[in-house]
Amino acid sequence: VFNFSAGPAALPESVLQRAQAECADFRGAGMSVMEMSHRGKIFMEVAEKAERDLRALLNVPDDYAVLFLQGGATGQFAAVPLNLQPGGQAMDYLDTGAWSGKAIKEAQKYGPVNIVASSQSHGYASIPDSSTWKLDPGAAYVHYTPNETIGGVEFHFVPETGDVPLVADMSSTILSRPIDVARYGVIYAGAQKNIGPAGLTVVIVRRDLMERKSAGVPAVLDYALQVKNDSMYNTPPTFAWYLAGLVFEWLMEQGGLAGMAQVNERKARKLYHFVDNSEFYRNPVEPSARSWMNVPFILADDALDGSFLKQAEEAGLSGLKGHRSVGGMRASIYNAVSEAAVDALIEFMADFEQRHA
Ligand code: PLP
Repeated sequence: VFNFSAGPAALPESVLQRAQAECADFRGAGMSVMEMSHRGKIFMEVAEKAERDLRALLNVPDDYAVLFLQGGATGQFAAVPLNLQPGGQAMDYLDTGAWSGKAIKEAQKYGPVNIVASSQSHGYASIPDSSTWKLDPGAAYVHYTPNETIGGVEFHFVPETGDVPLVADMSSTILSRPIDVARYGVIYAGAQKNIGPAGLTVVIVRRDLMERKSAGVPAVLDYALQVKNDSMYNTPPTFAWYLAGLVFEWLMEQGGLAGMAQVNERKARKLYHFVDNSEFYRNPVEPSARSWMNVPFILADDALDGSFLKQAEEAGLSGLKGHRSVGGMRASIYNAVSEAAVDALIEFMADFEQRHA
């Protein structure tokens, strides 16, 4: 089965096989990694290696801390304002779709939010022209969502924010290509797309920003406290952390993020090319803002949606139903979705079109 689900999403087959082989007796300990103390020698080695490998993959500078936490990206929607905006300053947010909308709604609980720009009036199908953005030079930070998982809209540039720290919800794009971590103040991501299983949240935070937090930050969301405790102030999601480590090793075998970027760009280009050249399928997103990871598409006749999905399942193509808020279809083509999977999808779509157009 080829899994096009938006998240929790496909994991590399070899990673799953290795986890299965190691499951019951981890490194000769007579127990699984799930049953071990997070403070024991074996798990500490797993944890440290995963952090080292993630740092190497993303080329994380030393003045950034890397955290492996619980609470999902949604937890970070609150953690970001709580940690970075102690003084009541405005918080700048770019509004580009469903996930930035949720981040905004959460931040509004903690202080004034300035919407820098919004693509709402364009149906969230584009990125607002950066020459129209109303950035506040006194803002605590600027938050954006580099890849909107539901709308399939992606920034293919890093916003310029001067001295104001840039915060990015990279849940559905992290590890899809190299990034320059030094351009960001905070990067966070729920793991369940390109990192590993659900339950783990990766946060990369520039160390000087940890001095800012207000007194009332809940301990589990407190960056400085979690850094001081090596992400173990409370019990971390140990199994997910271990599995993420296996994914990082797999990524290195694929040529790191430069290798991943080549494959990902090729996969996306192929699929968009096919959709654009068809009279039967349509992608609503402006070409310059199309996501490499989530490709929404609609059929010429939505009465065919049900049979498209049913036949796709029968052909071994799973998880293509679009998000309930937008309908239609969505193919999520994260790192673990092979080029062969995309080829099989295109072949199926062409065949379906021929039979129904
Ligand atoms: N942000 C983005 C871009 C997402 O795609 C998602 C969905 O998984 C979330 C945030 C919410 O993440 P979580 O479910 O880990 O809280």
